[in-house]
Amino acid sequence: MARIYADNAATTQMRPEVLKAMLPYFSKEYGNASSLHKEGAGAKTALEEARAEIAKAINATPEEIIFTSGGTEADNLAIKGVALANKAKGDHIIVSSIEHPAVLRAAQALEVLGFKITYLPVDPDGFVSLADVRSAITKETIMISVMHANNEIGTIEPIAGIGSLAKEKGIVFHTDAVQSFGKVPIDVKRMDIDLLSLSAHKIYGPKGIGALYVRKGIPLLQQTQGGPQEGGRRAGTENVAGAVGFATAAQLAIKEMPRESRRLTKLRDLLIMSVIGNVEGARLNGHATRRLPGNANFSFKRIEGEALIMMLDEKGIAASTGSACSSHELKPSHVILALGLSPEVAHSSTRVTLGKYNTEAHVRYIARVLQKEVNRLREISKGMSVE
Ligand SMILES: *Cc1c(COP(=O)(O)O)cnc(C)c1O
Repeated sequence: MARIYADNAATTQMRPEVLKAMLPYFSKEYGNASSLHKEGAGAKTALEEARAEIAKAINATPEEIIFTSGGTEADNLAIKGVALANKAKGDHIIVSSIEHPAVLRAAQALEVLGFKITYLPVDPDGFVSLADVRSAITKETIMISVMHANNEIGTIEPIAGIGSLAKEKGIVFHTDAVQSFGKVPIDVKRMDIDLLSLSAHKIYGPKGIGALYVRKGIPLLQQTQGGPQEGGRRAGTENVAGAVGFATAAQLAIKEMPRESRRLTKLRDLLIMSVIGNVEGARLNGHATRRLPGNANFSFKRIEGEALIMMLDEKGIAASTGSACSSHELKPSHVILALGLSPEVAHSSTRVTLGKYNTEAHVRYIARVLQKEVNRLREISKGMSVE
């Protein structure tokens, strides 16, 4: 049987339409978008069309889009760029405790510089509460950053509410929408979002390109010095092929979102029902319905997540423990721990993220293999333990 890739939250396979749109910009259309000649002008046109397409996808204007090398750089630019530009106003930043490491580590870097960070708790389903955000706000608060959807457990946060609260208090609001973009509708105006991070490779686009939306008028200190590219907010020769690929992927994802999210929600629920119904000692991490269409995250009693992932890999299934960034560390997931669960439960967390190329047959096979392998691992560990 062909391999089943079910780790779409880590990265996705690039779609053929995206590759096709990108190819000319590696060869014939190789100009530098900042050059004044015809080669440069062609690249510049393609870059600006891509920027307009990304802007349209989130109801922003093209001038509000900064291309970056990905979601990580967008998060870093947002967190450090806003904090350092607003230092005179205050030194307090609020982030959720289940953010991606790109946000958490950027916040920690600011702590070293003297900023104070509040890490908001989440409830057992992974939701940040508006009341907690409200009570964390002080006179010194300059920024709130809460992700749109979590990469491990798929929980979709109440960001429109947080945005409106931030607006009422005159505080800048950033959201990491890398996981939700193209899967859940986003409207930066309606949701009162000041900054928003995006990445192409999570939506069947190329790796190494992303974007940061920055609402017009929000002060931002550039974090990469050099040429005047991206309106002086992010120096470096533009990745034209990447931007074209990103825009193509975004346009297709937005167009296909209503149907695809319905299809993936059905597959996800089939997987959750089969696993919870058939595997003894299985629990679902995250909320049952207010989660990303393709995301399922389970914990299994008396199972090591890493061991299970290796077993699944041998059976042709690519899944993950927690996030890709922590899957080579043996630290329990900070997200599962934040739900109030034990390190044992966190160590057993197993993430299956379905995408465009997954089918119902895949889901049935995954559910069957999960059940078998969980039981087998338990038999092995029972044989090894001294009773
Ligand atoms: C993948 C991911 C990132 C990092 O994006 P890259 O483009 O891989 O740097 C940031 N935040 C979230 C929520 C992600 O899932």
